[in-house]
Amino acid sequence: MEIVNSITGKTKLLGVIGDPLGHSISPQLHNTLSRYLGVDATYVPFHVGKGQLEYSIKGLLAVNVLGFNITIPYKKDVINYIDDISREAALIGAVNTVKNINGRLYGYNTDAAGFIRSFKEETGMGLNGKKVVLLGAGGAARAIAVGLAFEEVSEISIINRTISKAAEIAGIINNNISMIAKYYSTMSLEASDILKQGDIIINTPSLGMYPHIDKTPISFPFEFTDNQILYDVIYNPMRTRFLQEGEKQGLKIVNGLGMLIYQGIQAYEIWMDVKVTDEVIKKLFNALSHLLFPGKGTVENANVE
Ligand code: NAP
Repeated sequence: MEIVNSITGKTKLLGVIGDPLGHSISPQLHNTLSRYLGVDATYVPFHVGKGQLEYSIKGLLAVNVLGFNITIPYKKDVINYIDDISREAALIGAVNTVKNINGRLYGYNTDAAGFIRSFKEETGMGLNGKKVVLLGAGGAARAIAVGLAFEEVSEISIINRTISKAAEIAGIINNNISMIAKYYSTMSLEASDILKQGDIIINTPSLGMYPHIDKTPISFPFEFTDNQILYDVIYNPMRTRFLQEGEKQGLKIVNGLGMLIYQGIQAYEIWMDVKVTDEVIKKLFNALSHLLFPGKGTVENANVE
């Protein structure tokens, strides 16, 4: 009989906690990274039901987990059960990555860094001094706004349906990082002018995500300004209508797959104290693109952490 020997007493344990978890691609992402890097680690999805968050974290600590991700709906609540939190995660108000260092739990938010790395790598451009328009004011927008402010963009204009949420994010930036954030209602008269003035427009609401691929965050026809860069955190479909419209007008466009991959890489680098090489990152992009889009441009069974 053949002995299965891939997991031993020395194997490092990683995982993700959330509810639901069935469609998460994080296990594939992290286990593939460990395989490429020759690291003896395994990453397991842990479904944690309502009311079980504290017990699950104590349990993970008890079995000496090296680190774990946190996804919906626990990114905020997990802060109550960890020992320390990065400044960025504290400002964002959400932790998606925890590392166990000698029994103490340290919390990070890698969504911000994931976005920043993806933007820089995929556009070949920096962010310093840029005027950014951020559509939406949910969890993804909050992380991106804080990340952008630390990158010293010159202005962040947050446009959202519920203006109080946009105002809250602007307040976090202006009161803690620098006075660069403004906020507008989607319905305001200025919104269209503000959109035209940005160097970069980032879409964060899930408008346009599969299966509602005809939805857009702004009304078309809309004439973008030359040389604007459009970034959509959605990666399914690969090109939302928002991106397609920009592409038709000759703009540079980026979808959210890079953010998804780089937030995972950032978490892995924190856990393992390694720097993942460009060559490995390229292999991971190819492998995950193949997994997510086996030739048809949309994916039905994956979500993001
Ligand atoms: P969220 O916290 O629920 O925020 C949703 C945002 O979308 C809010 O600003 C909300 O406006 C707006 N919105 C929703 N429906 C709308 C509608 N019909 N019209 C106008 N605005 C609407 O969600 P989230 O966590 O930020 O996630 C948003 C998207 O980002 C999801 O598609 C998620 O998959 C994606 N994401 C991608 C990555 C990645 O790595 N690529 C990472 C994180 C998230 P109100 O405030 O007015 O409700």
